[in-house]
Amino acid sequence: MIEKHHNTLKKRPSLAVLTSGILAGDRITLSKAITLAESTLAEDEAITADLLDAVLPHTGKSLRIGITGVPGVGKSTFIESFGTHITSVGKKLAVLTIDPSSQLTHGSILGDKTRMDSLSKNPLAYIRPSASGSTLGGVAHKTREAMLLCEAAGFDTIIIETVGTGQSETAVKNMVDFFLLLMLAGAGDELQGIKKGIMEMADTLVITKADGDNKKKASQAAADYQHALHLFQQPISGWTAKVLTCSALENQGIDTVWDSILHYENFTKAQGFWERNRRQQNKTWLYECFNNLLQQEVKKSQRLNNEVNVLEKKVEDGSMSAYQAAKDLLYMFRRPLL
Ligand code: GDP
Repeated sequence: MIEKHHNTLKKRPSLAVLTSGILAGDRITLSKAITLAESTLAEDEAITADLLDAVLPHTGKSLRIGITGVPGVGKSTFIESFGTHITSVGKKLAVLTIDPSSQLTHGSILGDKTRMDSLSKNPLAYIRPSASGSTLGGVAHKTREAMLLCEAAGFDTIIIETVGTGQSETAVKNMVDFFLLLMLAGAGDELQGIKKGIMEMADTLVITKADGDNKKKASQAAADYQHALHLFQQPISGWTAKVLTCSALENQGIDTVWDSILHYENFTKAQGFWERNRRQQNKTWLYECFNNLLQQEVKKSQRLNNEVNVLEKKVEDGSMSAYQAAKDLLYMFRRPLL
């Protein structure tokens, strides 16, 4: 099922209706709840906070997978094929997409309904394009809430898809168990806009479109990347990143990617990293929420309006460092409390 993003709900359902609907796995309720979570209206934020509290005991049991790669690398084709494979082994899959460019275009390119056409009709799959947020932090923040709501609704596998532009990857890495980077063979790292930091985040790299004339090039690229990864620092998970090849169009290598994820899950659960990582991520979430709330408070403050504008301009034109401006802002924010 593909779900459209709605900016507002005509009628806000009650907390009890939302909670029972979500726990019963009702998709319409789930979609409404995600819309509420994406809203910045105070009443919607209040009900979202209560709803998250209510469903929290039913969250956290899914396998959370982040998938990234530059536009054209084959993300949606891959997710279509991969999603079909994992639903065929009985998994219930939710796909959430983050598209930072939607802030500029006012329409999510990832949300294009022609993407993932067959998965969107699959009764075991739920696809939800993210709302365009005013800040990247905001988008990521809403995505985490959407993920928890999907878990409470019974989805045991969550994919968070993001365009590999380097902006949202860290945010996604902070909310998933496993991070998958899709790469093209022979395109060159620079051309792909893939930074070393993103490669370092990846638990598995997959060279896409390994079919036809491209097959040999893909194998060569896989060998090159595997070699390059050896030069990176060993990740704290203790897991050595794998490099695989696949063809989503021909359905080749998709099951191997899934096996690699399961292998990672077993490995990191056995040595404790899985649980440690989740705990750390929860802590990160606390500070993300706090930062968001603080920013909202500052933005809402009439008293600080002028000062914020002046500081923003100074930071924009480079006459003041962001750090100094943030310190000034904090000082002004606290002033009446002192
Ligand atoms: P996205 O922008 O990363 O979501 O990429 P898409 O999934 O839209 O794919 C971009 C283009 O690559 C499309 O024309 C796809 O048909 C093509 N493509 C995707 N996967 C494969 C594949 O496995 N093999 C081949 N040959 N082409 C593919």
